[in-house]
Amino acid sequence: MNAYKKVSGYTDEELINILNEAYGKVKIGKLIYPVGQALKERDPLTFRLVAFNLAGKDDCNNLVWVCSQCKHEYDNEDEAENC
Ligand SMILES: [Zn+2]
Repeated sequence: MNAYKKVSGYTDEELINILNEAYGKVKIGKLIYPVGQALKERDPLTFRLVAFNLAGKDDCNNLVWVCSQCKHEYDNEDEAENC
């Protein structure tokens, strides 16, 4: 079971916007993508980590662990892993 951290209260769309505001656009081959969408599609794990760092900066109390199977949110990693 893989639990992962996320910032409670943010949707993927909001995290994408946070990334786009922080990094703008990225060039992949001949195409230019907004960073948020590109990262989410190509590297979801990094997307979460980077967005988590950006969004979590001022908002440490909103961090939660999420069960990767049922998406239930927990306050600590053990509970989420053993969900
Ligand atoms: Zn679960």
